[in-house]
Amino acid sequence: MPIATTNPATGQLLKSYEPMSSEQIDAAIERADLAFRDLHRTTVAQRAQWMNTAADLLDAERDETARLMTTEMGKTYAAAKAEVTKCASACRFYAAHAERMLADEPADAAAVRAKRAYVRYQPIGPVLAVMPWNFPLWQVMRFAAPALMAGNTGLLKHASNVPQTALYLEDVFRRAGFPEGAFTTLLVGSEAVDRVLSDPRVRAATLTGSEGAGRSIGQIAGRELKKTVLELGGSDPFVVMPSADLDRAAEVATTARCQNNGQSCIAAKRFIVHTDVFDAFAGKFAANMAALRVGDPMDGDTDVGPLASEGGRDEIHAQVQDAVEHGATVLCGGEKPTGDGWFYPPTVVTDLNPQMRMWAEEVFGPVAGLYRVSSYDEAVEVANGTSFGLGANAWTTDPAEQERFATDLDAGNVFVNGMTTSYPELPFGGVKNSGYGRELSALGMREFCNTKTVWVGEGAATVGAGAHAE
Ligand code: NAP
Repeated sequence: MPIATTNPATGQLLKSYEPMSSEQIDAAIERADLAFRDLHRTTVAQRAQWMNTAADLLDAERDETARLMTTEMGKTYAAAKAEVTKCASACRFYAAHAERMLADEPADAAAVRAKRAYVRYQPIGPVLAVMPWNFPLWQVMRFAAPALMAGNTGLLKHASNVPQTALYLEDVFRRAGFPEGAFTTLLVGSEAVDRVLSDPRVRAATLTGSEGAGRSIGQIAGRELKKTVLELGGSDPFVVMPSADLDRAAEVATTARCQNNGQSCIAAKRFIVHTDVFDAFAGKFAANMAALRVGDPMDGDTDVGPLASEGGRDEIHAQVQDAVEHGATVLCGGEKPTGDGWFYPPTVVTDLNPQMRMWAEEVFGPVAGLYRVSSYDEAVEVANGTSFGLGANAWTTDPAEQERFATDLDAGNVFVNGMTTSYPELPFGGVKNSGYGRELSALGMREFCNTKTVWVGEGAATVGAGAHAE
């Protein structure tokens, strides 16, 4: 894949880059390793000062950065501006809370025959971050802010279609005051990931991306015995039960499916609706979807911009056509537009069955599948019936049902009467083929820390009756 900016609204190639040479990659890893030796000895307060400066830069440069993101991957300008603001907030959140998250945790010293015993969280070194284009600033920031605050250094291999946003991220951290090499963008294709992750100076990797990339990086990391966090795809269920507020559910469903032009891992993709309210919900939802304005992502009136790539658009259209060939009904959309840019209309498809690709695959665009169920148990069965387990939504006003969904939905996060989103305060991640490990909150920061047990005694034997010497 070429490393280049191509505007998805026009299909025009705007800027391309030569991939870094092997020598340049080696030099970048060396700088990250050297920077780590400095960074992990700085105080949390010093790093917080730099992180707050990064937040100020992001805020000050919001409009320009948002324009760049829209040009590179097609999200609406309004959504891009909100993404920059969210990144600045995350920087401030970790600047404010890192001291507490990294503080030593005392243990019960008497129970382990120590004078003192505690857990200490320490950074591990350079971490490779392989990132996707769909939230080109946020996906990176939710790794970078906690990792840098913990004292790790970062090597970013961003998606090949967002090189300018990738370079901007490196520039922001440098201007904020972080030492040279603390955060470096590697302009490389995916074929270079093996070489970088195999380098002994690189201690771990985080990937946000597809299942295929996850399997590949997981294999390399397994071979090299390196820690990974994998944030992969999803096909999130959005369950609507009879007690739900249908107007509100249909409104949120529309946003949950079409945010980011339908290209979000945690977008609701499968709408599982109780038969008692199926027709009412389907009518409202399809009307909302059909009313969305598709067009120039820089225009303030646009709800849905283009897909990020021509291949992405072809893929979702093929999934819709496959469903139709197998008997699905299209309630709105479903036609591939002609003309410049990689646009696709918000589409609702129903009468789905397991022979269709859409049943099991992730649909990465503004296409919703509607499923009719006749009981709570069937709703849960359909909701859990894919290989993914990232987010899940349930709409019900019945408190007992809310609790049951929270337990029964097999996903990394469950949002009841709302759409899935990420907050720096809450852990984020998946189960099953959606990956493993967590980002955000204190858990995200500690994924790339050495959780070190410290035991301080008075020289007496540590192994008592019943204890194991290993
Ligand atoms: P992708 O093709 O997997 O690309 C993501 C990143 O991985 C890019 O930097 C890409 O580099 C790299 N990559 C691709 N194949 C690789 C391989 N075999 N080995 C090493 N690196 C590889 O994913 P995408 O299509 O751009 O993004 C959409 C996917 O990401 C969807 O499945 C979506 O659900 C998922 N996603 C998950 C989350 C989450 O938090 N769980 C968030 C956002 C997106 P190149 O660009 O150079 O190919």
